[in-house]
Order: sequence, then C-alpha cells, then structure tokens
Amino acid sequence: MSLPSLATVFARQLRSLAAASKMVHHRSSSSSNSGKFTDRFQKDLKTSFSLTDREGLDERNRPPHETDVLIIGGGVVGSSIAYHLKRDAEAGLNVTVVERDCMYTRASTTLSVGGIRQQFSIPANVEMSMYSVEFIKTIKEHLCVDDADPPDVQFNQGGYLILATEKGVDQMRENHKIQKECGAMVNLMTAKQLKSKFPWINTEGIALASYGYDNEGWFDPWSLLKAFKEKALSLGAQYIHGEVTGFDISKVPRAGAEMAYYTGSGRRVKTVKVRLPNSPETIPIKCSMVVIAAGPWSGEVAELLDIGKGSEEDLLHRCLPVCPRKRYVYMFHAPDGPGLDCPLFVDPVGFYCRREGFGGNYLCGRGPEGEEDEPNTDNLQVDYDFFETNIWPHLAHRVPAFENLKIKSAWAGFYDYNTLDQNAIIGNHPAYPNLYMATGFSGHGIQQSPAVGLAISDLILQGKFCTLDLSDFSFDRVMQNEPFKEKCIY
Ligand SMILES: Cc1cc2nc3c(=O)[nH]c(=O)nc-3n(C[C@H](O)[C@H](O)[C@H](O)COP(=O)(O)OP(=O)(O)OC[C@H]3O[C@@H](n4cnc5c(N)ncnc54)[C@H](O)[C@@H]3O)c2cc1C
Repeated sequence: MSLPSLATVFARQLRSLAAASKMVHHRSSSSSNSGKFTDRFQKDLKTSFSLTDREGLDERNRPPHETDVLIIGGGVVGSSIAYHLKRDAEAGLNVTVVERDCMYTRASTTLSVGGIRQQFSIPANVEMSMYSVEFIKTIKEHLCVDDADPPDVQFNQGGYLILATEKGVDQMRENHKIQKECGAMVNLMTAKQLKSKFPWINTEGIALASYGYDNEGWFDPWSLLKAFKEKALSLGAQYIHGEVTGFDISKVPRAGAEMAYYTGSGRRVKTVKVRLPNSPETIPIKCSMVVIAAGPWSGEVAELLDIGKGSEEDLLHRCLPVCPRKRYVYMFHAPDGPGLDCPLFVDPVGFYCRREGFGGNYLCGRGPEGEEDEPNTDNLQVDYDFFETNIWPHLAHRVPAFENLKIKSAWAGFYDYNTLDQNAIIGNHPAYPNLYMATGFSGHGIQQSPAVGLAISDLILQGKFCTLDLSDFSFDRVMQNEPFKEKCIY
C-alpha cells in the first residue's frame, strides 16, 4: 500500500535504525491452568520458538536504543498492529514490541475461547468482525512465512445462536436489523423453528433466537497470535522480552508545519523504560510513537503516564478504564450431547456453550455478576463451585442431554475489561499526540484483532482511519464519561 505524501514525509523524518527481526522466545510448561492450553502449547513451542536454538539469546533480546513505533504488549492485538504496520509502512519504519510474559501464561489471548460473530448492536463492531472473518478465511494469503507451514487457525464455522426470552425480543429484533444492514448472515427463528433446527434444545421460555449461519464460529486464538507474530518478525518487527516500567515525557509545542502529525499541544512520550528479565537494569528506548496494547493491564500502563491522575480540567483527568476481570472456562464431556450441528449458543441466563472437537466435548462459561465481578489478578485458580451453582443447572435445563456431563478440565483467564462500557478503546490519547491505545475489548478482542491492527496502522501511517472508521471507539467518550454501550454483549 502506498502512503500519502504527508505520511511519506513523516516516514522520512523518522530515524532509520539497523534492520532488526530478532526476538526472544521462551516457553515453559508451567501454568496454573489445567487442560487444553498446556497441552496445546507444547507442540507449538518446538516450532514457534525454535529461534532460541539458532541464535544467541542476548543478541536477540538486545533492545534498540530507539525505534519508530513501540508497542507495549505482544498479545494478539499488539502483534496484529506490528504486522499491519510492517506490511503497510515504507521500508525503514522500525517497529518494536515489548512483551513481559513471552510464555503468554496470563495473556488474555491464549486463555480465550476464540469465538467470532457478527451479532453486535453497534455497526462498527459488526463491521470489525466482518473484516476479521474475511481475514481469517484468507489467512494464508496474509500470514504465510517462507519455508514455514502455512498458518492454520482451525476456523470452525459452527455458527452463533443467541436465545432470547420475551423480554429480550425487541432488542434482538433491533440488533438483527442493524446486522442485516451491515450485511451479516443472520436469521431470526421462532421457538418452533428453533426446535425444528436444533431438536436437542429445550425451548422452554425462549421467544426468539438469532442464528448467525455463516461467518460465525470459533478458531484457535494461540494459532492466530503465533501467525501474526511470526509474520511480523519475518517483516522485520523486533520483539523484546521485557517489562515497560516507566516513561520519559516532554512537552510538545503547538503543531507547526514540520510537526503536522501532532495536532494540538500536549505532552509527548520521549522514551519508554524497559526492565529486562532477571535484571535490575532498566533500558530507555527512544521512540516516535507508542501503542498501549497491554490487554488487561493497559490501565496500569496508562497510569505510568499519569493518565487518570490529573486535575478535573486536565486532559489527564480520566483514567484508561481497563483492568483484568477473571473468567472461567470449563470443558466437559457429554456422550449424548449434540453433534456437528451444535453452534456456540448463548442462553438468556448468560452462559455460553460450544462444541470442542468432535468427541462429545464442550466448552462453557459465564461472566460473574455484580459484586462477584471484581478486579482480581492474584491468581488464575478455577472456582469449580461457580460451575456447579451458576452454570450446570441452567445448562442441563437448556440441553437435557447435558444432565450427565462430566467436567474434564477448566481454566481461568483475564478479560481486558473496560469498566466504562465494555467496548474497545481505539485511537490517540488527547494529552499525548504520539500515544495510541488499542485495548478494553472486554471479551471480543480476539475476533477484532485483525481489524484493529489495520485501523491502528492506518491511524499511525496515514493519520486517520481509512479502511474501517473506528472513531466511535475513541477516548473522547472516556473524557466525557459517556458510555458507548454494546447491547449484544456476552
Ligand atoms: C476466558 C476468556 C474467553 C474469551 N473469549 C473470547 C472470544 O470468544 N472471542 C473474542 O473475540 N475474545 C475473547 N476473549 C477476549 C480476548 O481474549 C481479548 O480481548 C484479547 O485476547 C486481547 O488481546 P490483547 O493482545 O489486547 O491482550 P493480551 O493477550 O492480554 O496481551 C497483552 C500483553 O501485554 C503484556 N503486558 C502487559 N503489561 C505489560 C508491560 N508493562 N510491559 C510489557 N508487556 C506487558 C502482557 O504480558 C500480555 O501478554 C476472551 C478472553 C478470556 C479471558
């Protein structure tokens, strides 16, 4: 993609650093989560992280003195941004990703369920998922790396089925209209139609159902992260194993001709301080632009920039309202459960369930409510009572074949939870013209990651949203304390 002249001029102004496509890959099998993730990673570690055997660790993890764009967080969002930037920028744009947990033991991405749907109420959310699904379906055209096996995210178009009681009917119809206008493949079904299509569902209390029959389902989140990361590396992005612990900032003058990218006055991030593993040392990395893609910990990172610490008139007054919220995922076996026709279904009570493979295994989960949903980053321990009390009775009611299920394993992960409105925050920070945020996805960040990577890349390289207009997700609503609510959120 060629850049407009402004971006070209700007790109030329950026200092060119020595080409670097080096990274540190560390993995170990330790994880406090049980079950599929530990197993799943073992196979990939050998391939995705085999660079460790070929190159010197110290050399690969040596941070640059300066970089053009520094991305904090190498999860699926940070890695998608790194890939899109390297794909779309002119040669010479240095992209550095700093990731403190290169085993991704706590990252939201690797503990996700990997669902993708177009069933949202906000058109931009529908459009993001539509973009992402196309990307995922054609992933081999985008993320193949020479000599390596083509990426396979195991996209299963099993569909999404959302069930509503009488109370939810009007909202479901409203959402449906928006989704259809955006071009989503969704059908509404009465209880009778539902029973005829999915005879294993108990339709008691169900007044209407919305079924995404195409372009919806689930895929393997780890494989998507791995594919983005390996492609970004192959294009010259550098991944650094380290933790961002602070920043140096400077005051920016008002925009002048030579600083056309920086509109308005404010602060500017000058350097990012990175603490390397097993070292008390903190390395400063000079950078032109910084992206916060730190998932559940984005609010913490923003605090290091005094975001949320200013007086009422100050642009730093509002915090970045993103924090970790624990969610459990349970895997169970039910020999008589529904087969291939089982979509990911969401009950009006609030739990979801989907098939996992073909052997009578299923995944399910449910968000805690009210005071139970407190920030908690202490541990990733699973609460099995939560399943017994809050999920199982409803699950067995909805699908009688699940009455004799057996829990096989479970894990916990952190949502990157936006406490204001559970929607993404995408774009610049008003006080820091060279600071971008891509966070707060609150349970739909995997499916939005391809779209968000493209949008942030456009914003950085072109100075505006081009392909997808995500301006509704800007920090402005946080500044004004005006939630932008998604009405179809699970
Ligand atoms: C149980 C569960 C189920 C989910 N199900 C779905 C689903 O079905 N569909 C869907 O679309 N989404 C789902 N999600 C949400 C989705 O996983 C997230 O929105 C998405 O992974 C966010 O990606 P990320 O890259 O922003 O965050 P992460 O994957 O958390 O990556 C952020 C990275 O930043 C690093 N980091 C943080 N602070 C620093 C620092 N100071 N210095 C350096 N590095 C730092 C972290 O180590 C982390 O690896 C689910 C999440 C969970 C927990």
